[in-house]
Amino acid sequence: MSVRDHLSMMDDVQILDSFIEADSSEVTRILQKNQDVTVHFKNLNGGEAAGNLLSTREKMAKAMNVGVCDISELLDKAIAHPEPTLFTENPEFRYRCTEDVNLLSLPIPKYFPEDGGRYITAGVIIAEWEGKRNISFHRMMVMDKNHLAVRLVPRHLFTMHKLAKKAGKELDISICVGVCPCALLAAATSLDFGVDELEVASAIRKSALGQPMLVGRTDNGLLVPANADYVFEAKLTFETTAEGPFVDITGTYDQVRQEPVIRVEKMWTCKDPIFHLLLPGGYEHYLLMGMPREPVMLKTVRQAVPRTHAVRLTEGGCCWLHGVVSITKNKEGDGINAIMAAFTGHPSLKHVVIVDEDIDIFDDRQVEWAIATRFQADRMLRIEGAAGSSLDASSSGTTWKVGIDATIPLGREKEFQKGVLD
Ligand code: MN
Repeated sequence: MSVRDHLSMMDDVQILDSFIEADSSEVTRILQKNQDVTVHFKNLNGGEAAGNLLSTREKMAKAMNVGVCDISELLDKAIAHPEPTLFTENPEFRYRCTEDVNLLSLPIPKYFPEDGGRYITAGVIIAEWEGKRNISFHRMMVMDKNHLAVRLVPRHLFTMHKLAKKAGKELDISICVGVCPCALLAAATSLDFGVDELEVASAIRKSALGQPMLVGRTDNGLLVPANADYVFEAKLTFETTAEGPFVDITGTYDQVRQEPVIRVEKMWTCKDPIFHLLLPGGYEHYLLMGMPREPVMLKTVRQAVPRTHAVRLTEGGCCWLHGVVSITKNKEGDGINAIMAAFTGHPSLKHVVIVDEDIDIFDDRQVEWAIATRFQADRMLRIEGAAGSSLDASSSGTTWKVGIDATIPLGREKEFQKGVLD
């Protein structure tokens, strides 16, 4: 599914024909106004772009052809059972090719005034090293016509880059923009090193839409989603440069760091490509980052508390720092055990609330009601000096973590339940 295909199956797309300058932050103003609305920019710096494509759980569910509550289960299955991809000689992205790449001419915006530059935010990087493939999201700052500064947090691509450097080689990568939701979600997962996220994407696609992920080959030998709107063939070089500042998931400016430089060597595009814009710190950003963590947390908490029903990383906590878990307790103390397991399942988690199964965890007011009526501070777990998210502006190297057990004390259900009408 190209971005255009995706837009054509939505019924609430706002179309903007007017010219928008890449450096003006106008894109951010428009996308922030109402994040429930998908926007198709017809002329962003001369090109087409789209934002808020997957900014609600409902949009995500619709694109994947499932119910909102079923996404977690679907992801869980796909992560456990990756599926082979399907190769095609004629992928959509191989429509047009240029080696005279000019990133400055593309519809890539600067999102916030103090950002270090214009940023690719929905870019998925594909790399291979010694037979292992990795797909991951990275923010990439445009430096000039054909160079990008890439933020590499110490995960799999970081490791591949390090191994390649040790072997004296620049790492071949392909950067894809405008890939389908299945590939986006797979790219956002954190699996074991060597697990092929492309096959996870294929499994998501197979259980969602009944078809495997179609892939094509770039000239550097890498397999990439066939339906990507833009594919850049590039090298992850030995050079580093100042990357940032950049407003990231928490909505605050992330600091400037020395990060690797990417040299872009070739650009492929599909017919009439549309650049996918991921609004930094917006709901789409939250959901893509957070939703793939939910099934992992669910599994971990279930090991501690067998009757764990659902896990949600809440939008108010950027779908990253705050979680809610609903359980049915077998014994007193299960709430506290669930807290510990939730922190294990998602190391960036900072605050978590455990509730009983009668609370709808997708409704913030119900969760707060549970805290208000079922919780006293003696059932709070405080952990000092843990590793947390580098994106949390309030953390000072390490993080305090707090878990709230807002479940009803066993045996006292009658006193705590809501009055209901017959
Ligand atoms: Mn990986």
